[in-house]
Amino acid sequence: MNALFYKSARPWWLLLLGLLAVGAGMAWNLQREHLRIQVDELARLDNQSQVIQDNLMRQFDAINKSLQSIEAELPAWSRQPDGRDEAVKHLQSMEATMPAVRTFLVLNQAGDVTLSNREELIGRNFAHRAYFAAPQQAKRPYALYVSPPFKSVLNHYLINLTRSQSDAQGVFSGVVSAALDPVDVEILLNSVRYAEDMRTQLVHGDGLVFVSRPALDPAQVHDASTAGSFFSQHRISGRSVSQFAGQDAPGQEDQLVVVRTLYAHGLAMDKPLMLVLSRQQDKLFATWRDDVQSQILRFVLLALICVAALRVFQRLALSRRMAAQRLKLATEASGVGIWEFDLVSKRYYWDKTMFKLFGLQPELVSARNDDWQKLLSADDLKRMRDATRLTIRQGQPFDMIFHITRPDGQVRAMRNHAALYADDQGVPRRLIGASEDVTERKQQEAELRVAAVAFESTDSMLVADARAKILRVNHAFTLLFGYGAEEVVGQNPSLLKSDRQDAEFFQDMWSQLHRFKRWQGEVWNRCKNGQEVACSLSITAVADDDGCVTHYVATHTDITVRKAAEDEVKRLAFYDPLTQLPNRRLLSDRLQRAVSQVHRNQGQLAVMYVDLDKFKPVNDRYGHAVGDALLRLVAQRLMGCVRESDTVARVGGDEFVVLLLGITQVTDATRVAEKIHAELRRPFVLQVGEVSISSSTGIALYPQHGKTEAELSHNADVAMYAAKGAGRDRFLLFEPD
Ligand code: GH3
Ligand code: MG
Repeated sequence: MNALFYKSARPWWLLLLGLLAVGAGMAWNLQREHLRIQVDELARLDNQSQVIQDNLMRQFDAINKSLQSIEAELPAWSRQPDGRDEAVKHLQSMEATMPAVRTFLVLNQAGDVTLSNREELIGRNFAHRAYFAAPQQAKRPYALYVSPPFKSVLNHYLINLTRSQSDAQGVFSGVVSAALDPVDVEILLNSVRYAEDMRTQLVHGDGLVFVSRPALDPAQVHDASTAGSFFSQHRISGRSVSQFAGQDAPGQEDQLVVVRTLYAHGLAMDKPLMLVLSRQQDKLFATWRDDVQSQILRFVLLALICVAALRVFQRLALSRRMAAQRLKLATEASGVGIWEFDLVSKRYYWDKTMFKLFGLQPELVSARNDDWQKLLSADDLKRMRDATRLTIRQGQPFDMIFHITRPDGQVRAMRNHAALYADDQGVPRRLIGASEDVTERKQQEAELRVAAVAFESTDSMLVADARAKILRVNHAFTLLFGYGAEEVVGQNPSLLKSDRQDAEFFQDMWSQLHRFKRWQGEVWNRCKNGQEVACSLSITAVADDDGCVTHYVATHTDITVRKAAEDEVKRLAFYDPLTQLPNRRLLSDRLQRAVSQVHRNQGQLAVMYVDLDKFKPVNDRYGHAVGDALLRLVAQRLMGCVRESDTVARVGGDEFVVLLLGITQVTDATRVAEKIHAELRRPFVLQVGEVSISSSTGIALYPQHGKTEAELSHNADVAMYAAKGAGRDRFLLFEPD
């Protein structure tokens, strides 16, 4: 069965054709049955008409004979004086013995009744009756004249059978006639009816219905010879018997009709009598129609069952095919190759994946398909054979990894499972197995082992998931921060946060991590015991093949000691060790920045050189240590005279520089200079007692006295020396002259 069969419309067409054939067969059978019923029925009607004919004609013969005997007696009766009474008696006794005859009549040439078994009719004239007129006017004599049906004077519906009389010269001399008793005919016609709907009629050759069973409406005259009627068709055909099926006249029911012209052997009649026997088709075929209905029902049932069965079958077939396809897809997608080894023929059967895995071309391999063995090293081949033997002989599970060198030169690790399949007698027949390429997996496993070793390195390491939840920490982490793995797994690394970095710092860190997938920097962390450690932190985001971050790996290196050393170096490089004030280098740096800043803002700044007056003698008198102490106090007082944003630096032995920022006019600077001057004049309390000293200050302003750091420094220094020269203990603004 091909794939098309499950989906296509073909089976449906086949079913339709089958059903059509069955339906046509049924219809043909029914049609044949219909025809058979019709033929049988017509034969039966024909048969009944034959029976009536035989019966009636024998009676006609008898009537004819009785009329002849009357003819023979007539001369004798006319001669005898009491001939009339005798004749009447004779006719009465004849009528009594002949049930088919109702009345015997003898009419003279004028149409007067001369004799009759019914005395009341004698003397009446019936010359107008057809049974008198027809023989009277006949050109050619008939043995018997059959009159059309007519209403008699006694109000009976009659047909008369009449013989014509002639005298010795051959001239018409009257008639001898017998009226048929319709009751007797009715009985006869009734006797052959075998079905309710069957109708038998005796019809005069001219078309008037004489007797009909069942009876027709007596108030009407029934003429069967309307144009195109079965009766007329029969009469035109000239046949003795005709059979018809259909409507006798428009609007009538369908009928089966047999029309027979009555024929009496050796009896020439001027007009024939005809029998019309009919049956209603709807009654006749009632059983047949029931049969048709039940057959249609059976057919519809059969069709429904077939349709349902085909649907179920298609669905089952489809689901079976889908299951097979799913299995195929699953094995293909998994990359697992399926193989079979026939223990009898020693042949290997492979699926497509196997060939792909081994890099072999299906059309190029040998009949036994064992070329792949050449791809194995001698050792692996031996191991494989030993394992196969053990599986076949002892039923041991077959599960091994061997390496192949594919024709394209790639070395691949193949994992092979197999199971033994035995026949009904338990004899092993086949080894069925699955092979998969585990090269990458093996590599990954090795890499994982390396990663696991690397993870346990001397640096603290932390692995978090994409939502920054800690998954793993190494031993070095625990040693550095004091937290055990069980305490931090599931937590956010922010639990290590100290207060030294603000939220902005971490926002920057994360945005860089998102952009560059890595971040490196220095942070202060807090250990479990509260101690802070400086760390060099390196975070790497691990992304999957689609670039989605799945993990973060963070490495902390403790740099607390290094950091302290660095700070110290920085301090020594930029600060005066005695007063802890910025030294000349730092001042120069700040001044440079300040100059470029005020240049941009079009602001002002002031540089003041402050030198102590006659400091050397203080040193000389009290010693160097007292001088140092004095210098430290001077530094403190200077700091007290300026704002936080201003800078006080020590640039030489007793020489200080004050950098004022954010001034808007000269007096802003001179006011500070005045304050400094006053502050330094206040006596200093030292170990040796109170010491008083004064100072000389030179002021240079930006932009009036210089636009560069060098200019400003120089001009402030010049102004300071001018103050010294003017007698010390004062401050002076720089003057270009
Ligand atoms: P002038 O009024 O002209 O400024 O005279 P002066 O005595 O203050 O002398 P000057 O400013 O020229 O010299 C500063 C002196 O400060 C020279 C040195 O003996 C002394 N000195 C320099 N550095 C230190 C130091 O670190 N400690 C102490 N105690 N004295 C220092
Ligand atoms: Mg001095």
